[in-house]
Amino acid sequence: METRRKFLKYAGVSLLGLAAAPVSRAAASYIPHESHTKSRAEALTGSRWAMVIDTRKLTRESDFKPLIEACHSVHNVPDIEPPLDIKWIWTDKKEHVFPGKHNEFQAEKIEHKPYLLLCNHCHNPPCVRVCPTQATFKRESDGIVVMDMHRCIGCRYCMAACPYGARSFNFMDPSPHIKELNREYPERMRGVVEKCNFCVERLAEGKMPACVEASDGALIFGDLDDPYSEVRKVLRKEYTIRRKPGLGTEPNVYYII
Ligand code: SF4
Ligand code: SF4
Ligand code: SF4
Repeated sequence: METRRKFLKYAGVSLLGLAAAPVSRAAASYIPHESHTKSRAEALTGSRWAMVIDTRKLTRESDFKPLIEACHSVHNVPDIEPPLDIKWIWTDKKEHVFPGKHNEFQAEKIEHKPYLLLCNHCHNPPCVRVCPTQATFKRESDGIVVMDMHRCIGCRYCMAACPYGARSFNFMDPSPHIKELNREYPERMRGVVEKCNFCVERLAEGKMPACVEASDGALIFGDLDDPYSEVRKVLRKEYTIRRKPGLGTEPNVYYII
């Protein structure tokens, strides 16, 4: 604790009222660094993981529920009412997901349905650049943007920098709000930020992301650098868009509209 206080003091963040910044209640087994998660023989490997969301297959709220529940249950995401809710994967209206793409003559089924959102695991992630402690970092080997919760001091610079609202802050102790604890995955504590991690812990075990498994083919996951991967095949075949492409963040999540 003494070391932590010293760090905060030297980092100057105690001036921001963060002297009591928390640490995560992390399961010792989970560390998001490549050296820990890619060393297993069964691990799925790729050098630029990406996801394609086929929005044609996701139309009603009931289509999204299994995906969201799969992610949130496996990652101990607490169930808290907005505006203090924690979201790793969620839905929103088209005007918020693709601002500037409104067209009054577009089909009702496209204009007025929910769209799925998660961290874009940007190739050029602004959240990484602003993090003062390297709690948020991009894995060199596969491009996944992850967090080391032990390093997060809750400054929320990453939330301000992310143009996609992909990060949530734990304003309260999430523990009492977790429906059923998954002991294989770490809980977080009040005062840290969190987000989708592209299921690094599952990839390390040779499994696809939980939302992809639960999506009945609506989500496709694979390596963008592999021309024979499923994502590359789909991207060759279908017209896709990405969120806010003009910002230069290069999202690795694509949408078939
Ligand atoms: S979507 Fe936001 S949190 Fe995710 S990598 Fe991009 S900038 Fe970072
Ligand atoms: S809140 Fe975000 S920017 Fe601040 S330390 Fe945590 S991950 Fe880094
Ligand atoms: S990729 Fe994994 S962490 Fe990200 S939204 Fe899907 S299930 Fe959740």
